[in-house]
Amino acid sequence: MPCRRQFLGYLPLAVSGGVALTGLLGSRAARAAMLAEQDPQAQKLGYKADTTKVDPEKFPGHKISQTCGNCQLYQGDTGSAAGGCALFGAKEVAGAGWCSAWEQG
Ligand code: SF4
Repeated sequence: MPCRRQFLGYLPLAVSGGVALTGLLGSRAARAAMLAEQDPQAQKLGYKADTTKVDPEKFPGHKISQTCGNCQLYQGDTGSAAGGCALFGAKEVAGAGWCSAWEQG
């Protein structure tokens, strides 16, 4: 059975581990969900997580160079893999994605 001195020696480790775990869990919970291509609003706008997968027959005005990452409505950082979009609320879109509401950023 550990004596009081040993217990007090472990206390700072236990507290710092608890703080680190709380921070990790908190940041995961705060991370937004990704927009699914199957989402009804995403389907309405022809959203694809990969701009190269956009159907050219459905969207003849689409260009491969157009991505969420260079869209005016993209709220992620420049070059980020994912970020918010003014059209999709709390869900994130892929930086390499595209939808028919794309606007030159
Ligand atoms: S509006 Fe722009 S940022 Fe939002 S999904 Fe469409 S292309 Fe991507």
